[in-house]
Amino acid sequence: MPHLQPPQKIKSDTFLQIDAASRRSLELSSTQSGAYKNSLLFMIDHTSTAGGQRLLSHTLAFPLVDPSKIKRRYDQIDFFIKNAPSTQDLKPHLKEFPDGERALARLSSNRGSARDLLVIRQVLKEGMCLYQHLQSLQAPFEPLPFKLEDLVPLYEELLQALKDEVGALTRDGGFVRPNYDSALDHLQNYEQESKKALINQQKIYTETTGIPSLKIKHNQVIGYYIEVTQTHKDKVPETFIHRQSLMNSHRYTTPELLAIQEKLVSAQGDALCLELEIFDRLVGHVLEQQNKLRPFIHGISHIDMMHGLAHLANTHGYVRPELTEDTSFDVKKGRHPTVEILLKQKNELFVENSCQLNQQKNVVLLTGPNMGGKSTYLRQNALIIVLAQMGSFVPATAAKIGLVDRIFSRVGAGDDLTRGRSTFMMEMIETATILHQATEKSFVILDEVGRSTSTFDGLAIAQATVEALHQHNKCRTLFATHYHELTNLEDTLDRLKCMAVQVKEWEGTIVLLHAISEGNQINLTASTSLK
Ligand code: ATP
Repeated sequence: MPHLQPPQKIKSDTFLQIDAASRRSLELSSTQSGAYKNSLLFMIDHTSTAGGQRLLSHTLAFPLVDPSKIKRRYDQIDFFIKNAPSTQDLKPHLKEFPDGERALARLSSNRGSARDLLVIRQVLKEGMCLYQHLQSLQAPFEPLPFKLEDLVPLYEELLQALKDEVGALTRDGGFVRPNYDSALDHLQNYEQESKKALINQQKIYTETTGIPSLKIKHNQVIGYYIEVTQTHKDKVPETFIHRQSLMNSHRYTTPELLAIQEKLVSAQGDALCLELEIFDRLVGHVLEQQNKLRPFIHGISHIDMMHGLAHLANTHGYVRPELTEDTSFDVKKGRHPTVEILLKQKNELFVENSCQLNQQKNVVLLTGPNMGGKSTYLRQNALIIVLAQMGSFVPATAAKIGLVDRIFSRVGAGDDLTRGRSTFMMEMIETATILHQATEKSFVILDEVGRSTSTFDGLAIAQATVEALHQHNKCRTLFATHYHELTNLEDTLDRLKCMAVQVKEWEGTIVLLHAISEGNQINLTASTSLK
């Protein structure tokens, strides 16, 4: 039976819920085209270990809702930023960590090798240094549920037992260090002596036969044999027993050679058996400690992840968000985490935009021309929530976020023809899901709802959706639309405010400022007008 972990209950309300369609549209771990490159995960990943990377991906998929847990992560990022000088060596150190989680999984499912034991040894060595270093700096990481010293005996045993470099195939042996097991040492000495006896025997045969090129060789088929070239065939004594003839040489054996071979083979076989017994014993000792090893290795991945997030915050000027239990959302000079980096790479500047929602005004109706930056603004605010609730700092100068239970994102239109759904059908299904499921604590971004049908039908759908979100769901909503007519809703829906993307006319051309400000006036009307 493999050593399986007991199942754990995962309650959906302990995570910020993001449905599959919203995940896709927010491009959390892959872009709309399915690529990992330029997704949010790709941009925020500054981890150094395989475990850290996997944990970051999991954390992004399951942001938290418990403020105390999230704030602990902020404290950890703060710690790395404040202690940058004493933790600057951490990245190269973390890069040395092999993948302990995978090695342990292989060992516990009986598929492990001596190399996996070596991985555990290295993880123990590097990990103990890491934990001790962070403890000495009083880092705000959760203490391990056992004492570090508890793992020292296992580390020492692996240190004494294993050579520093071992072959890929455990069944070939050769991984146990000399002086670890006296019986094995004895057998291996015997093996060495037999090999010396072979060299000696070759010398004797060369002298007695007068054949200078005579060699004792070995192959898997006939074992050890004496090889004599065709030229010296006549000098071969009668005591040599013929085994094989090739084009230019002949192979023989002798009773002495057979006796040495027998001893050698049996010593090798016994040594290998013993090594495999030692391997099984060491695996057993590792598995006995797996309840300690698992949190130990997971802790290293967590440290790596938080260290990476601190690096991200430092490099791109992210700030620590303030979390509240109400339904406010106040982001000052926010940026889109991926668009900002992509623009930076092209030496272009990202225009910062604030967003303020509260109980009095919790629905924003955003209008503006194509390419103005509406979708970017919508997504950036949703991504700031995802980042904040996964425990990361956020791209803004200040952020106050009332904890969100669910994020819904419906941006752009797309077919799913393989499942028999047209653009309109997809839009309606996704919008209906949002209207059915969004609560007062949810955050909804909707872009271009109603675009996949005729103008008047679309306008009706868009208006009905805004009204339902405002009257029934009462969730925080950012609603971008080309229907400028909807701005009239500001007069009837008291919690709705209009915002618009600013554009300017300059020397006869339109300049998209990408700046978003309150009000429904834009200098140039590029939005769809029914008139
Ligand atoms: P459409 O109505 O055609 O869908 P849109 O208003 O939604 O357009 P976006 O797709 O958000 O516009 O943005 C278009 C491009 O403008 C982006 O790819 C980005 O390069 C640039 N852009 C958007 N927002 C900003 C910003 N705040 N600062 C700098 N550039 C931006």
